[in-house]
Amino acid sequence: MGVTTAYYLWRDGHSVTVIERNSEAASETSYANACLLSASRALPWPNPSSRSMIWRALTDATAPMRITKLFDPALWQWGGEFLSYANAKHYERLSSAKLKFANFCNDELQTTISETAISCGYQRDGLVYVCRTEQSLAAARERSNWVSKFGSVLNVVDRDAAVAAEPALANANIRGASIAAKDGQGDSRLFTRELTAWLKARGVTFQFDETVIGIDSVGANVRAVRSTDDTYPGDVVVAALGPATVQFAKTIGQRMPIYPVKGFSVTVPVRNPALAPKRGGICEDTLIAYCPLDEGRRMRITTGAVFAGFEPGRSGRFTAEDFSPHRTHFESLFPGALAWDDVDNIEFWSCARPMTPSSLPILAAKGYDNLFWNCGQGHIGWTMSCGSARVIADLVAGRTSSFDLTDMQRV
Ligand SMILES: Cc1cc2nc3c(=O)[nH]c(=O)nc-3n(C[C@H](O)[C@H](O)[C@H](O)COP(=O)(O)OP(=O)(O)OC[C@H]3O[C@@H](n4cnc5c(N)ncnc54)[C@H](O)[C@@H]3O)c2cc1C
Repeated sequence: MGVTTAYYLWRDGHSVTVIERNSEAASETSYANACLLSASRALPWPNPSSRSMIWRALTDATAPMRITKLFDPALWQWGGEFLSYANAKHYERLSSAKLKFANFCNDELQTTISETAISCGYQRDGLVYVCRTEQSLAAARERSNWVSKFGSVLNVVDRDAAVAAEPALANANIRGASIAAKDGQGDSRLFTRELTAWLKARGVTFQFDETVIGIDSVGANVRAVRSTDDTYPGDVVVAALGPATVQFAKTIGQRMPIYPVKGFSVTVPVRNPALAPKRGGICEDTLIAYCPLDEGRRMRITTGAVFAGFEPGRSGRFTAEDFSPHRTHFESLFPGALAWDDVDNIEFWSCARPMTPSSLPILAAKGYDNLFWNCGQGHIGWTMSCGSARVIADLVAGRTSSFDLTDMQRV
């Protein structure tokens, strides 16, 4: 969010400085996500079935969503607000806002990529959401009807049509799929780092290896940002710190309703391209997401949504066991495609999604008149990266927001 915000502010003629605690951009949550631009499937997490999902998350160690740190006051506070939205009325309101915003953001990302000519494996020619059982196919039909109310299109197809869209599924035991023709994919790390270089070449300043530790203010105005190395005066500050937003907010006496929801990602060399998918997708039964990268030479596979509390450091903790669902479930869809024995070239990663209770982002000024927050995009922040930044640039400029912010996360 920080780098795209810098882009939209630069476009408006501001002089911009980005302060980043790592030595490169996209070194935390944006480092190795699933790279899907899955706007058509951007449904809110609180829904009328959330209570039974929570029970499963607490009791089933094999569930994709798990709660491993139950006695965490931050989780209880976040969870209370989450449950207040877990009913039909809020589900409809939040579905409408989230799907429409995600589609707006998908278009905005496409515009940014064409304006900057950044090369990051971007393609917007559809994603395939695979159904292995009659049950998931029936759920896909329901989902398709639901999202169509809000302008999104998920086209549910039988097995033959799914294989026609993704020929590598020919060896899988599937019942069908839903296909989102306007969704897409791209390497979010590459995009962020290329955009950083693009902005540097146009005068935007990046201060790497510096941690923001506070602000200087006068009344309701922030006058400067303090880092471990220096103090940076400015007219406007945008806080875009991913899951670490919570800690920064606390240092300046604010509370941000974000909880870290950990996921696990593995990137594996492709051994047999003929057996590997040519576009990204999600298995609706196992909830693994996959995406070919580097023109199909590597495959990113992610899954897991673990409520494990805040973990310090650039990445989350993980063990080999955390990655067994990735291999098992991917192999059952695309057997023999990947070089799982090429251990030196497999990359494991874990990081946290910055989730809000409503699962809509925070795009607002709070605490000070000139301190804006761009955070909480949760499981869909790559998709929302440019749309969120555009809205923040609108707020900074005092323009009417390009998107109606009524149903964004309250702060
Ligand atoms: C497993 C997994 C799969 C995902 N798959 C997808 C997907 O397919 N599609 C999609 O749209 N989204 C996906 N997401 C979500 C997406 O990755 C995130 O929403 C997005 O990366 C969040 O971006 P961010 O800029 O808010 O956070 P980050 O990328 O973490 O950036 C925040 C930055 O702030 C810096 N920072 C923090 N504190 C400080 C400080 N005090 N001083 C200086 N710098 C600081 C950090 O170093 C970091 O670089 C996935 C997430 C996970 C975990």
